[in-house]
Amino acid sequence: MSNIPPLDLKRQYQAIGADVSAAVLEVLASGAYIGGATVQNFEQQFATYVGTQACVGCNSGTDALYLALRAMKIGPGDEVITTPFTFIATAETISAVGAKPVFVDIDLATFNLDLDLLAAAITPRTKAIMPVHLFGNPIDMSKLMAIAKQHNLIVIEDCAQATGATWNGKLVGSIGHFGCFSFFPTKNLGACGDGGAITLNDPALADDLRMYREHGSRQRYYHEAIGVNSRLDAIQAAVLQVKLQHLDSWNQHRAAVATRYHELLANIPDIITPQATPGGESAWNQYTIRVIAQPGADPAARRDKVRASLQSAGVISMIYYPLPLHLQAVYQDLGYPAGSFPHTERVSHEVLSLPMFPEITFEEQQRVVYALKDAIESTSHSD
Ligand SMILES: *Cc1c(COP(=O)(O)O)cnc(C)c1O
Repeated sequence: MSNIPPLDLKRQYQAIGADVSAAVLEVLASGAYIGGATVQNFEQQFATYVGTQACVGCNSGTDALYLALRAMKIGPGDEVITTPFTFIATAETISAVGAKPVFVDIDLATFNLDLDLLAAAITPRTKAIMPVHLFGNPIDMSKLMAIAKQHNLIVIEDCAQATGATWNGKLVGSIGHFGCFSFFPTKNLGACGDGGAITLNDPALADDLRMYREHGSRQRYYHEAIGVNSRLDAIQAAVLQVKLQHLDSWNQHRAAVATRYHELLANIPDIITPQATPGGESAWNQYTIRVIAQPGADPAARRDKVRASLQSAGVISMIYYPLPLHLQAVYQDLGYPAGSFPHTERVSHEVLSLPMFPEITFEEQQRVVYALKDAIESTSHSD
């Protein structure tokens, strides 16, 4: 029996490959590879999809976050509050502009920033909050925006894993001041390479983002700031235009896959299935369970054994993320010792992301669940 992968982009290509190839060939024949109508059309379509006035394409989700920070002139001496339980890019961009990432622990139920802890982390230096809709599950944007408004803070949503997720019926990326998206191939809307975009409702700021994206220039060969070269390629924009038409249908399949996992996993002991934030619709980029550790044992040992056991049954699972950001070598200078964020540290030992992609079959999900049952049974004693 073949392995069940965490995701399978080949199946997606089998379904829509003819349209993707035709769109790419059209760009190749056009001779317009940088900028131009293909990129502008995609930017417009994506703004319409998310429900914002403007969209600025760029080279990656990382750059989207970086450019948003630059456009708000956030830099040395400033603090930006974010979560330690995310991909490095979130905090990395805060550091890259010279500001300081300030971490706040997560809520155990949703893996997202604990908004009850947010106010205590705000100082006179705080300029922005960078929430992450982790695994596709939206954070409570109503509560977050109320806190931001009260303290006059900018909200930069990291939507990299949540394209198509909604909060109170509104798409994530349309609620904060900036929505930052990644089109990395494994994201819900993935290019055939790198890509990213920023959504926003302020046309003047959109112009600033374009200026920073193009070497700090509004008029070619005249430069007003130190910018970067971060464009969305026309070929990727063409691919994304094709794929955007399928995004809602793919996300519906992901939601159905999640519902099936919820049902199939309901009676397995010692695991906790993911919970959506009430009021939100997850985009289900990941289906991440928690494997409860044996008391007194090495906290990650059981999860790691379960993962190895799944692997020998041909089920490939992933760990997002094994080491929280505040414990990374690169962030030792921030001065957060182990124990600073108990929820984050706890779940980093427990999380396991099961195969999740729109095309996964019911039979494959059943195989995942049987293998998981076996793995949980065989690790139910800490010997
Ligand atoms: C993928 C990801 C990013 C970065 O996106 P890239 O396109 O890979 O640069 C940022 N934040 C989160 C939460 C991500 O998952």
